[in-house]
Order: sequence, then C-alpha cells, then structure tokens
Amino acid sequence: MQNAPKRLRVAICGAGIGGLTLALALSQYPDIEVELYDAAAALAEVGAGIGIFPRPWKIIQMLGLEEDLLKTTERKPVQGLVPAFNWRKGDQQAGFTFTTLVTNGTLITLHRADFQTVLLRHLPKSCRVNCSKRLRTYTQRESGPTELVFEDGSRTFCDVLVGADGLKSSTRSAFLSERANWMQGRRRWQEAAEIASCIDPVWSGTIAYRALIPGDRLKATAPGHPVLTTPTQYIIAYPISHGKMINFVAFVCRHDLENTKFDGPWMGPSDTSQFAGLFAHWEPECVETPLRWAIHTVKPLRSFVSGRTVLIGDAAHAMTPHQGSGAGQAIEDAYILATVLGHRRTTRANLPRALRIFDEIRRPAATAVVEASRMNGRYFSFEVDGIDFARYSGPQLWDKLQNLSGALVKNWEWTWTTSVDGSIQDALRMLEGPDF
Ligand SMILES: Cc1cc2nc3c(=O)[nH]c(=O)nc-3n(C[C@H](O)[C@H](O)[C@H](O)COP(=O)(O)OP(=O)(O)OC[C@H]3O[C@@H](n4cnc5c(N)ncnc54)[C@H](O)[C@@H]3O)c2cc1C
Repeated sequence: MQNAPKRLRVAICGAGIGGLTLALALSQYPDIEVELYDAAAALAEVGAGIGIFPRPWKIIQMLGLEEDLLKTTERKPVQGLVPAFNWRKGDQQAGFTFTTLVTNGTLITLHRADFQTVLLRHLPKSCRVNCSKRLRTYTQRESGPTELVFEDGSRTFCDVLVGADGLKSSTRSAFLSERANWMQGRRRWQEAAEIASCIDPVWSGTIAYRALIPGDRLKATAPGHPVLTTPTQYIIAYPISHGKMINFVAFVCRHDLENTKFDGPWMGPSDTSQFAGLFAHWEPECVETPLRWAIHTVKPLRSFVSGRTVLIGDAAHAMTPHQGSGAGQAIEDAYILATVLGHRRTTRANLPRALRIFDEIRRPAATAVVEASRMNGRYFSFEVDGIDFARYSGPQLWDKLQNLSGALVKNWEWTWTTSVDGSIQDALRMLEGPDF
C-alpha cells in the first residue's frame, strides 16, 4: 500500500534542544514529514548542566519525556512552593546566604547530554536525522518549495524551513541578508542596516567559567558543601546526574561592554592562575581549570518569520544564561510551532499566515525573557540602581540585599506563576478564528 501524501514537509536545521523538541512534537502529526539536518558529524552528548523551570517542564510532561528524564536526576517535580536556589553573598571569604528563591513547582536540573539522549530515544524512526549537513544558505521563492544548500554542495527541498541552528545560525544569516537586501532594493537604507546588524551575535560583556566537578571529589574536600544538594548563586552551582557531577559556572560581568565585539576565541580552556586570581577573594571552591566562555547574544529581531522560513531557540533569541531559560524558551518555541504546523487548517498555501501566528505569540514572550535575563545579570553582580554594596554592612547591607532579592524574584516569577497553556490557547484561537 502506498503511503498517503504528506500535508507538509518540514526541514529542521539544527538538532539541538530546540530542533529535537520540535521534531518530537511534530511526530504527533502523521501527515507531516520531518527531516533534521545537523552540522555535527554525530550528535555528540555534550554540554553541562541546564535547569528547567515549571513552565517548560509542562511541555516535557506533555511530550511524554518526564519519566525518562527523571531517571537522570534527583530533583523531582513537586507542586506548590519549593526552594530552588540559595543566594549567597559570596564575593568575600566568609560568605552568607541572604535569601532562598522559592518557586511554585520544582526547578529540575539536568545534564544537557542526558536531555539530548532522552529526546533522541523518543524520536520515531520516521524522523530522519542527517548529520554532517551544515546549512550554507537557502532560496525561497514566492511559491513552491524552499531549496536548502549545504556546505558539502548537496541540496534538498522543503515546504517549511526551521532554523534551529543556534547562536551562530546560518539560517538567521541567510534570512536577515534576504530581508536587508529587500529593504535596500526599496532604498530603505536605515532599516536595511538595522536588520543586517542583527546577523552576527554580540558579546554580552560576560565571561562564564564552566566546569563539571566530580561530586565525590567535592564530598572528600568539602563534606556537607551546600551545592551537593541545593543550587547556589553567583557563582552558580548545582548537582546533576544524581550528584555524580556538580555543574559549576562562575560569571565575570562587564556590563559596560554589552553589545560590543569580543576579541579572541569565544570558547576555550581558561588560564588557571588567571581564573584563581579573579575569584581569590571569594569563598573557597573546588574548581581547577574551567572552560572559558564569552557569552554572546542575538540582538532583538523584528520577526522570527520570513515567508515559509522560521527561526526558533538561540537562532532567534540567544540570551544570557542569567534566568536559566534559553533552553526553556527553545522548548516553548518548539511546542507552539508544532501546534501551529500540526493544526488541521494549516496548509502549504497558508503557511506564511500560520507562521505569523507563531511569531505573534512567541516573539514578544521570548523578547521579554531576553530582557529579564539581562536584568538578572545586573542583580547577580550587585550592579543595580547605582548602589555600591561595598559601602554597607550590618542591618543596612541586609536591607539592601533583601530589596535586591525582592526585585530579582519579581523579575523571574513569570516562569513559575504563568503557564504555557495560555500561549497554546492563543495559538488555537487564532488558527480557528475567522481571520485565518
Ligand atoms: C553558561 C550557560 C548556562 C546555561 N544554562 C541554562 C539553563 O540552566 N537553563 C536553560 O533553559 N538554558 C540554559 N542555557 C541556554 C541553553 O543552553 C541554550 O539556550 C539552548 O541550548 C539553545 O538550544 P538550541 O536548540 O536553540 O541551540 P543549540 O542547542 O545550540 O543547538 C544548535 C544545533 O544546531 C547545529 N548547527 C549549528 N549550525 C548549523 C548549520 N549551519 N547547519 C546545521 N546545523 C547547525 C549545532 O550542531 C547544534 O546541534 C545556558 C547557556 C549557557 C551558555
């Protein structure tokens, strides 16, 4: 018996967290063909720790991933109020905890490699993952399929191209170049220049020093250290993989250098003595040679959609990691995009309109998280409202720190006080409304 023709052919460029989640969410719709392309020779199980807040965790539950993911972590989802992070003032030898972040629902901490493994295990065989396929560019015409061109010279066609290819996205580069050329053709020079300025990522002014500390080593040198059981900020550290590893990230922020060009490699080994010097006056920790990582972001885009091409995850809105929400936002993008593409009213003919619904829902939401994450970076590095925390001590310092933690919670609480259900309902309302 011949297979029924597919309603849509979706090409996903990038099999990271966003791309794999989208492929899995789309696999619920048998009339959609999904093909994944990734630049890597194999989908290596790489990365460090990521935290998933209750809002994106709901999507993980809906996709049937919860049971398998929970086998990889000791954190269990609890409803109601639970402690998520202890915040310590650690930029001194004798640090102290000044508040505990309490979330409504658990922040689940995972190893990124475990997450990717579980996503891959759940992908049906019908969804092909093509490795060593680095997208170079694409051509999209008024109608008909979009042509993808890969670095190895091969080509393929699809109805919808999804750029899930991360911070340095080639899809974004081709997408914005096309938009900028269009503006230039209409002599709209300023808009063209503004669009072109979003192609390359910009430095956030922050360097992250990332390491995985073997849990046993920390237990031996610092028995009872709080990060063996509970996350701590900023240095941020939390246990993953059942405490076998402690995910450690220390941040050095130069907010005055935000949106500048970073000189030198964005990632590489750190200089041990330089790293030790940077944190010499801090509470002693147990890290030797972390990986040095210049955190880059993507400037806010006017749209995540151009015709039948759409950007998701870091390709669309790479943000600082200060809200622990980049992957969570990629997961939300993926689920809402699958809801839009999977809807029975979405066809090849109305794809641009359907994708605009995705843009209308996801762009303002993700852009707000980018800004909230930026603000968290200020709070965590005690750079807010021009207050010089070093000038205060005793009860005065305590008051300032309590005000700071109040502002931080307010800036962050959307992730446990709001639900993704609202976005799903909005998408369905628009797809089923008279204007679609
Ligand atoms: C220090 C740090 C801590 C973080 N902590 C958290 C956290 O606690 N919680 C959280 O939610 N987020 C966190 N994040 C952010 C999170 O890691 C990212 O937002 C998330 O991984 C983005 O997923 P993605 O699928 O969009 O991109 P990626 O995971 O980067 O995947 C992109 C994929 O595209 C492929 N690719 C690249 N170019 C091409 C091309 N031209 N053609 C084809 N394929 C291509 C790559 O090989 C890769 O597989 C953190 C980030 C950092 C730096």
